[in-house]
Amino acid sequence: MELVSVSEAQTLMMKCLGRLSVVSLRLAEALGRALAEPVRARDPVPPFDTSAMDGYALRAADTQSAPVLLRVVGTVPAGSVWPSPLGPGEAVRIMTGAPLPEGADAVIEQERVAIEAEALVRIDEPVESGRHVRRAGEDAQAGSVVLQPGTVLYPGAIALAAAAGRGRLAVYRPARVAVITTGDELLEPEEDLVPGKIRNTNRYLLEALIRNEGAEVVESLAAGDDVRALLEAFVRVLPQADMVLTTGGVSVGAFDCVEKALQKCDFQRVFWRVRQRPGKPLLFGLLAGKPFFGLPGNPVSTGVCFDQYVRPALRYMMGMEPLYRPRLRAILEEAFPAKKVGLHTFLRVRWYPRPDGRIGVRPTGPQGSHITHSLARATALAHLPESWGPVSAGTEVEVELWSAAFDSPPER
Ligand code: AMP
Ligand code: MG
Repeated sequence: MELVSVSEAQTLMMKCLGRLSVVSLRLAEALGRALAEPVRARDPVPPFDTSAMDGYALRAADTQSAPVLLRVVGTVPAGSVWPSPLGPGEAVRIMTGAPLPEGADAVIEQERVAIEAEALVRIDEPVESGRHVRRAGEDAQAGSVVLQPGTVLYPGAIALAAAAGRGRLAVYRPARVAVITTGDELLEPEEDLVPGKIRNTNRYLLEALIRNEGAEVVESLAAGDDVRALLEAFVRVLPQADMVLTTGGVSVGAFDCVEKALQKCDFQRVFWRVRQRPGKPLLFGLLAGKPFFGLPGNPVSTGVCFDQYVRPALRYMMGMEPLYRPRLRAILEEAFPAKKVGLHTFLRVRWYPRPDGRIGVRPTGPQGSHITHSLARATALAHLPESWGPVSAGTEVEVELWSAAFDSPPER
């Protein structure tokens, strides 16, 4: 089978995906989910003209010949409504958030007012109409769409939905993902090593990556290199899983069991092997109609393939927009002579703000796909296109920021 490019692989994969079902959740439960409906404001936000200050509501026209004396006819706290229109020469003491009395068109803050007598205040300056007034509908007009479908509900969006008068929202349910690691060499982290064995890194990497995207781990199994055990694992996970991930066993080794097991299943291969590094052996298809990723065995390959393929697939299924992170331009501050023409290379880097205002990036150290440090230290991923050869220091590259954490610029 022909190797495909990174963007061909992503396009082929996206065509195979469907959206998950929609559920109605209370606001308190909706954090991190994607909206499946547009949210409209039930009423204007704010619903009425409101005072932005503790002070005095007045008619701006009355103050144009300041200094003037105004008669204070009462007080309106937040949550109440002043019952009668304000007459000429009158003011109402008003609290922040209280509705502006009818006839009033401005508020003067209480610090700028002199109290002359029991119900008499002196205003020493002309007050302009509209001062310290929050207009009805300034934040949202009644009926207007305040949140679009696809919006991931972070705290600010949840606040806006509450302000718009919605206590429940239609959101996509989280994807249920099954993880199956292959490899007879794998032991669990707490086990003591014996000759020939290593610790299962991918299982925990994938579980963390899945949860990090707001999806759920429905099963996590280690199947060794046994085709029968792998088939049993597929049978076990498929009824509940929306997506199946395996790691290892997809290169061209003699014991590569994933392909052998898939041959015995209802599996439709979409692509196998991508012109990329790390992660060239990546396999994707539909297993019993469900998206299946055969991720390569090396932890860094698994991590990068999850980031570039599984993550956008999960986001699509869970209704989230956008699918991909923005790519920013950055300066690669260290040469990367090992870049091979013909393979899109994902360089794990750390980023920092440069004194010239641009983003600088430096590789995390050795870039071997078995060097877990390169993943653990990375705060961004740099894309070196397929057509590039060795890259010199100072080259502008595209990066995706993985984390808001950044380094200080290095000493020069
Ligand atoms: P494979 O594609 O199965 O030959 O695996 C490629 C490399 O990744 C081998 O060195 C494996 O030992 C290693 N590997 C496979 N699965 C895991 C895992 N779950 N955790 C850590 N290393 C792994
Ligand atoms: Mg293996």
